[in-house]
Amino acid sequence: MDIQKIRSDFPILQQKIHGHPLVYLDNSATTQKPQQVIDSIIRFYTSVNANVHRSGHFLSERASVSFESTRQKIQSFIHAKQTEEIIFTSGTTESINLVAHSFKNQFIKSDDEIIISEMEHHSNIVPWQQICKQKNARLKIIPFDEHGELIIDAFKELITEKTKLIALTFVSNALGTINPVKELIHIAHEKNIPVLIDGAQAVQHLPVDVQDLDCDFFVFSGHKMYAGTGVGVLYAKQKWLEKMRPYTYGGGMVKSVSFENTTFANHPFKFEAGTSNISGILSLGKAIDYLNNIGINKIQQHEQRLVTYGLDQLSTLDGLTIYAKPKKRCGIISFNLEDIHHYDAMMILDKLGVAVRSGKHCAEPVMNHYNIKGTIRVSFAMYNTTEEIDRLLVGLQKVQEMHR
Ligand code: PMP
Repeated sequence: MDIQKIRSDFPILQQKIHGHPLVYLDNSATTQKPQQVIDSIIRFYTSVNANVHRSGHFLSERASVSFESTRQKIQSFIHAKQTEEIIFTSGTTESINLVAHSFKNQFIKSDDEIIISEMEHHSNIVPWQQICKQKNARLKIIPFDEHGELIIDAFKELITEKTKLIALTFVSNALGTINPVKELIHIAHEKNIPVLIDGAQAVQHLPVDVQDLDCDFFVFSGHKMYAGTGVGVLYAKQKWLEKMRPYTYGGGMVKSVSFENTTFANHPFKFEAGTSNISGILSLGKAIDYLNNIGINKIQQHEQRLVTYGLDQLSTLDGLTIYAKPKKRCGIISFNLEDIHHYDAMMILDKLGVAVRSGKHCAEPVMNHYNIKGTIRVSFAMYNTTEEIDRLLVGLQKVQEMHR
């Protein structure tokens, strides 16, 4: 992997922030975009712009073909069986809400149970919590242990005949833990319980094969994998899409409409009412081309080297606590410096051109587990380097000096 070549594709990385070359270590919040992705958005508005699946004119045909070819790219990227199993949404959050809405209306009744884990992002907590409240159902939580790993025996014990769905994150955005989702899905399927996997922190870092995982639903966001914002994906097995009723109603998702009745289009269109974020979706296609050109396995190896180096370097600092030591970790490290507020550390690092995130990372229950208010989080992408981790270290030393 030629990192310098990759870096030169990302114009934002050439910037200086507060007079220092930018070190961008907030990739779990959103990744930067390569020129190829930025160009695809400009190209769409300069030479293709038209609505899709509506008019038959040249531009509309061209836009529709690119739109559907992006669906195919996503299908092959996550190894879905059929293109029709790929639904475009505005992001992970909307994808989860779509499934939650459908479960609330069709599959959950009073006294039923939904299982999530203690390390979920708020997007994979609140929708389930709210539908449980509305249906008088119960939300059950798989705890994690001192290594930041889910306790599988506790998971097995939580499952009952009332369990209707299990929703789990593949990779924790707050701790970096890679969960053994294939094993967990297998356990759930032995009891015929469907599983939704939140892949928001996985697809850009490791190979994903939804057929091999055998998950029922898989969700992710474009902006965390080098594409534009406001676009995401819901993968669902065909059998679910056939059963699920539409989430939103309007144009583009119907076969025929009268004042008395409406017949709906087949999936995926049944779930894509209104005009989609077409330029965002095409940018996702470009981002997938970009990832494929480099190769997800190479990206994974590079990021693993970064996280190993990062953990080694961070452990040289006195008074630094790293939260979670899972056996399998993606390029995410959460930590705190003794007697220093995470927000203060983030602000000082920012002045040195190092962008990290501080706070609860939309995972408040993880913070409650450790009885802390928040952490400093660094998260890597394919364009990060060990030299940037050295800059982080120098920055953290400075933070400590300033607090002596
Ligand atoms: N799940 C996880 C694990 C995440 O990291 C995020 C984003 N931080 C989300 C869900 C929500 O993603 P989005 O805001 O793109 O909908």
